[in-house]
Amino acid sequence: MRREGAARARGLRTDYCGELGPEDVGRTVSVCGWVSRRREHGEHLAFVDLRDHTGIIQCVVDGGHDIRAEHVIKVTGELRLRPEGTVNEAIPTGEVEVGASEVEILSVAEPPPFSVDGRIAAEEQVRLRYRYVDLRRERMQANLRLRAQVNAAIRRSMERQGFVEIETPLLWTPTPEGAREFAIPSRLQPGSFYVLPQSPQIAKQLLMLSGFDRYYQIARCMRDEDLRADRQFEFTQLDLEASFVRQEDLWEVVSDSVLEVARSVTGKEPPPVETMTWSEALERFGTDKPDLRFKMELVRLEEAVAGTGFKAFQAEAVRALCLKGGAELGRGRLDALTDRAKKLGAAGLVWLRVLRQSDGLALESPVAKFLSDKEKAAVVAATGAEEGDLLLVVAGERARSCRVLGQLRLDLAQPAVSEPPYRFCWITEFPLFEGLDDDGNPVAAHHPFTMPHPDDLDRLESDPLSVRSQSYDLVLNGWELGSGSIRIHRADIQRRIFSVLGISEQEAESRFGFLLGAFRYGAPPHGGFAYGIDRLAALMAGEESIREVIAFPKTQSGADLMAESPRALPERQLEELGLRLLPRPEAKSPG
Ligand code: ASP
Repeated sequence: MRREGAARARGLRTDYCGELGPEDVGRTVSVCGWVSRRREHGEHLAFVDLRDHTGIIQCVVDGGHDIRAEHVIKVTGELRLRPEGTVNEAIPTGEVEVGASEVEILSVAEPPPFSVDGRIAAEEQVRLRYRYVDLRRERMQANLRLRAQVNAAIRRSMERQGFVEIETPLLWTPTPEGAREFAIPSRLQPGSFYVLPQSPQIAKQLLMLSGFDRYYQIARCMRDEDLRADRQFEFTQLDLEASFVRQEDLWEVVSDSVLEVARSVTGKEPPPVETMTWSEALERFGTDKPDLRFKMELVRLEEAVAGTGFKAFQAEAVRALCLKGGAELGRGRLDALTDRAKKLGAAGLVWLRVLRQSDGLALESPVAKFLSDKEKAAVVAATGAEEGDLLLVVAGERARSCRVLGQLRLDLAQPAVSEPPYRFCWITEFPLFEGLDDDGNPVAAHHPFTMPHPDDLDRLESDPLSVRSQSYDLVLNGWELGSGSIRIHRADIQRRIFSVLGISEQEAESRFGFLLGAFRYGAPPHGGFAYGIDRLAALMAGEESIREVIAFPKTQSGADLMAESPRALPERQLEELGLRLLPRPEAKSPG
């Protein structure tokens, strides 16, 4: 049962609790750890379950010791087989026990705020307040160790591919991701501030200009954004950049790293990473982050109902979903689906049950009478529907119709959030801009250093919203893990982009001047990527919340309940920083 660590320095102990087994019987062993449970055993003896990070071992000790839950002790004694009939099948060490001759209490513990081995989870607020106790739990031990395994796999892959790990500053300056920034006052230059990086974006581009060719970093990024939807102010990403590459080269590099992670965590060969364009993803799955673990793709019906007399289907797009076996859904469910579709922005939802009649398949629906037999047959053929299926159709503007069906697809068929297998997918050819801001300027979909698609460059000023970019996302099971792009390395294109974005030369100069300046000294073509390790580790651990794979996370309101941050600073310290506080209406309570 002993693991790779047979030879590792064992310190105060000879063995780890969870690694003892019948093959060790007869040896005198010393084990150290936390008391998980104590049960009296007759008048003079007690059973103590001792826990360390490898598991639990039962020790028989003199009942006279004052040993309680979470005391830290060392037990030395001979390992023996448990008497017949007392073997505990539920734990790996259940066949043996330490017959103790010596107990040393290394430290005593107050009763813990919640039971470490309890099956009933404590409130998250309490867990976060006493995170050091919470992290003793088996599940949290497993999660953080799995996360370390993810990091190790990433490093293996990056090193193998010739990337150099370089650290970049945390006390930095604005970067172009567009979120609100954290600022740190400078003591030596009162009135001036450092900015915590939203990512190492600018630093890594500079490293390309410096000739490092291939850079990576498991990097902390800080964004002062609202913490809705399972976000953290600080998060970790694999950040990389490479020179003289095309986007395809970067996809290969990044795919290698995530597949290495999946392989290392599951022990199985993962399916290869797929690639599809943004527009194809929208057409087939109604979203730019498709969950590929199940099919149920959107179907085009424009051809099937071309020239139809049915008003609702005379639209730019007529798209359908086929729900296998869905014909049995009752009116209540169908009405609820219709409401949902309308809430999502559709004008309505047409449902058609596929039933068998003597002369073949028939469609049953309140609108069936508006469709000709030929149209019905064409709809059945296009969707590949079979007896017992349900067709859901949305007609209207293309993007909106696809998005509505994409959401219904998830509502109806989504596997549990963290259910394997891991289906990674590249989404490519994103539009360069996503809509217009309040001043009518296009908004950069990725960031302003993203290279436009070469075929679309001449439309940059005339029809900016139609321009594709050389940017790409990596998606895993419906989650956007990260994004990247080929960067602009030519001053003339960069100037045009800033001008389209409505960023004046002065503004560009004041925000990113040192980067733009550096470009004058010889810039290689380059591009890069970054993906979130918190989400990746959470998915791999089967956790819904990234807080479960972060040692010391913050709450939804940005508080660290254990370290009690953020907190007020003494007047003296503020003065040193040259700061005076404005009166506050009311301090927010943490939590
Ligand atoms: N800096 C970008 C981000 O953090 C990723 C990249 O373009 O490399 O989202």
